[in-house]
Amino acid sequence: MSLVPLRKLAYIAAVAAFCAAILAQQKNPGYTDTPILPGQRWHVHDPARPHPPVVTPGATPGAPPSDAIVLFDGKDLSHWTQQGRPDVKWPLRDGYFEVGSGTGDLVSREQFGDAQIHVEWSEPPGIGGESQDRGNSGVYLMGRYEIQVLDSSGTVTYADGQAGALYGEFPPLANPTRHPGEWNVYDIVVDAPRFDGGKLLKPMFVTLLFNGVLAHDHRELTGTTEHRVVGTYKPHADGPLLLQDHGARVRYRNIWVRRLAAE
Ligand code: MG
Repeated sequence: MSLVPLRKLAYIAAVAAFCAAILAQQKNPGYTDTPILPGQRWHVHDPARPHPPVVTPGATPGAPPSDAIVLFDGKDLSHWTQQGRPDVKWPLRDGYFEVGSGTGDLVSREQFGDAQIHVEWSEPPGIGGESQDRGNSGVYLMGRYEIQVLDSSGTVTYADGQAGALYGEFPPLANPTRHPGEWNVYDIVVDAPRFDGGKLLKPMFVTLLFNGVLAHDHRELTGTTEHRVVGTYKPHADGPLLLQDHGARVRYRNIWVRRLAAE
């Protein structure tokens, strides 16, 4: 064989090896000759580090992504129950439901811990009352920790009891409450407490975006929600999403939850 075809073959082999290396790099890119990240078990840019799951976002803002548990999509209340009742007494309307005043709280059948939660609520047009009697309801995380629902679009109550407050502990960082008849949006992140028997290992943290405005940034709670006293922790497991019946016919729609798991 002459020298020219040999050179050609060597060139083709080199190009093939180069392409194979590029393909391998594209399939599993990263580095193993880098330092281990402090507190983690992965190299910087570790090619073996698992990737997060692919999630398809909702088609429109606020719509549930592909991995959400949809608790209310405008059609029925099958994901909900009321303590001591065989069926749900909160009235279903056109695409939303409203508080069944005097019938008791609404409780999700599913239990949640760490989670991302989306809830939309609206005060009925023409609602009256003052302070805590002006359209009071509430979104209770794990059945115990309340984010206040109230008409705070121009009326006054105590700051840690207005809309978006972690009731009795922290007012929201801002008040973006919309007027009665308009829809408000809560996007919540729950970093659930951990217990070891009767001992608190880690408290509850809550993040809230209220109509897209940051209202709580990983806020640490002192305990469960109470009225006129400081709450404390009592050990508990995962809990339901609970919507409060405080006597006002507050409306709810588009409720979904994504369970969050540590990496
Ligand atoms: Mg309330």
